[in-house]
Amino acid sequence: MAGFENAQQKQTFKYSGFLLTRALPILVLAGCIGLGVLGLLIWAGQEADRVSYDRQASLVQLVVSQLHFNVAHNQESVTVWDDAVEQVRARDSEWMDNNLGTWMHEYFGLDQAYVLDPQNQAVYAFADGRPTALDAFSVVEDEALPLVLALRDKLRIGDDSQVSDTVLTPGVSDLAVIQGHPALVSVKPIVSDTGEIQQTAGEESVHVAVRFLDGSLIEELKTDYLFEDLHFSWSPSDEPHYSSLPFSAADGSVLGYMVWHPHHPGETMLSKLIPVLSAFIVLALCAIAFSLFLYHNRSKELEASEEQIRYMALHDPLTELPNRNYFNEYVDVELAKGGGNALLFLDLDRFKQVNDTLGHPSGDALIREFGQRLKAIVRQGDVVARVGGDEFTVMLRGKASMGEVEGICQRIVDSARRPFVLDGQEVFVGVSVGVALAPRDGNDRVSLLRRADVALYFSKNSGRSRYTFFSEDMDQLLGRRKELEGDMRVALKAGNEFQVHYQPIISALDHQVKGYEALLRWEHPKFGLISPELFIPIAEETGLIEAVGEFVLQEACNAATKWSGKSVAVNVSGVELRDERYADKVKNVLLSTGLSPLALELEVTETAATDEASAVVADLDALREIGVQIAIDDFGTGFSSLGRLRTLNVDRIKIDRSSRPRVRRENRR
Ligand code: GH3
Ligand code: MG
Repeated sequence: MAGFENAQQKQTFKYSGFLLTRALPILVLAGCIGLGVLGLLIWAGQEADRVSYDRQASLVQLVVSQLHFNVAHNQESVTVWDDAVEQVRARDSEWMDNNLGTWMHEYFGLDQAYVLDPQNQAVYAFADGRPTALDAFSVVEDEALPLVLALRDKLRIGDDSQVSDTVLTPGVSDLAVIQGHPALVSVKPIVSDTGEIQQTAGEESVHVAVRFLDGSLIEELKTDYLFEDLHFSWSPSDEPHYSSLPFSAADGSVLGYMVWHPHHPGETMLSKLIPVLSAFIVLALCAIAFSLFLYHNRSKELEASEEQIRYMALHDPLTELPNRNYFNEYVDVELAKGGGNALLFLDLDRFKQVNDTLGHPSGDALIREFGQRLKAIVRQGDVVARVGGDEFTVMLRGKASMGEVEGICQRIVDSARRPFVLDGQEVFVGVSVGVALAPRDGNDRVSLLRRADVALYFSKNSGRSRYTFFSEDMDQLLGRRKELEGDMRVALKAGNEFQVHYQPIISALDHQVKGYEALLRWEHPKFGLISPELFIPIAEETGLIEAVGEFVLQEACNAATKWSGKSVAVNVSGVELRDERYADKVKNVLLSTGLSPLALELEVTETAATDEASAVVADLDALREIGVQIAIDDFGTGFSSLGRLRTLNVDRIKIDRSSRPRVRRENRR
């Protein structure tokens, strides 16, 4: 009982237990895997961005360093040329403009070009997209002259370390700020390509080329290398996502910065992938959570049905009380703990009559009602079980005093005496109780229950509707009963220990013998003469009464055939009468012995005569019909009134000995 009280609480506990021990770890694990994948992608994206930035920065650096070579290379296309040497010497301005100025501007994108004679005087100047006055050289003089002088030194000492398959002459170049623009200034000598024109090393005319870094060059770089938003800036960009690469002059001073918006392939990929991936992760988590929810519901259903099966296995369906299995388990546990105090074995009295007279469903209702009454009497922690048809057991827990146990037993007996209202009718039964105490009568369930059962047997036998505590002598008595039962079976087979004696029935009017009453004697080889009062109840309980009754009837009828005109009276047990074949058995004995039915009187108890069971009524009617006399034996022990007698199917009554002088009562049957 107590095991099921906290079922709700247990369910809640199981639910939160499930969340903590199963659902949460799985969801956390799935979430971690999702976050891990996301983190890995972000890292891969950032890595891709970093590699892309490194590549673009290297490219910018390469482009700038290539610029020195390219501009010098472009210059060599016109400075290593006999015509150029001659036309410069001739100061042919138009030729110089066509080949060294405007042409180079248009073809190679030079922003400014100057030609200096061996004395470093400008002989040609080109700026702002057209030939210009020679004194325009003054704007680059400060930056250009040191380069020119350095070149002349190289030429003078014949330093051709720069010369290769692709570089024909030495040159000097550097980055500088020209007219507020960052610029590349490159200086190349104008020399003979054939070597046929005599020139003094270091005394050559030189070509000075200026290429602004923030002008058309930027546009070319943007188109050629696909730099996004490439521009020049005097300071590094502080805009997020923009990269800056410094431009440094040969002396290490930083001129300014190339700024551009580098490609972010990782970021681009992530910006597209992350929403999709996040949605996927959320969906996956939802799917997992939903699966867990379904799984949990299924488990709950299984648990509930297991609980239901367990409940059914441990409870009696009619009363919903614990059944024998539950009771046994409970008692074993309590006794092991030393908590068991008293075991009560209960059996309703004369319950079969309720079934017989009102029907099985009413019997069920009575059992249910009695179960409720029992539950209302016992205390918290005591357990009540239905262990059989009309059998119940109770275990009283704790250290109840003898007085308390007796009090509970008395209340149980009283509760069964109260009427049960079935189909609007008041029905009276009773209950007999046997009590065994722990540890006095035993420490284990089996011996305690057996002893309570023995005590119950004594309650039944001493009049029912009472409780009896077990005592050791009960066991001895029961042992003797068992022994007698065995002996009776043997005696019935052998047929020599049972004898029928005949007691004359004398008329009070004329003192004549009217007939004889058959009295059964059992001469036990060990115990001597045994009273029918002792062995008849045993025969009734064990079913041996049928054989005993038949033996007496046969003997008595046989004997009576020899007495002319005298009748014979034979006692019949109520148990025999409840067999619907009893009348036929009597008829057969009469036929086989040839005794007239009129010479036979059957003595039944008052209870049997008033028994409303259909078999009893039918047997009595059938016997009277053929002329067998029916007498009530021991009238006055039951509850019948003299008024009721008129309605009974009997020919004679015999007043009980408590109301008449005692006549060899102990030998009667
Ligand atoms: P006693 O005083 O000696 O106990 O006699 P009794 O009439 O109570 O008979 P007994 O205890 O020997 O038998 C109990 C009867 O209960 C036997 C059976 O017909 C009846 N029974 C068993 N199970 C059920 C049940 O579930 N419902 C009903 N209505 N009757 C049952
Ligand atoms: Mg009973």
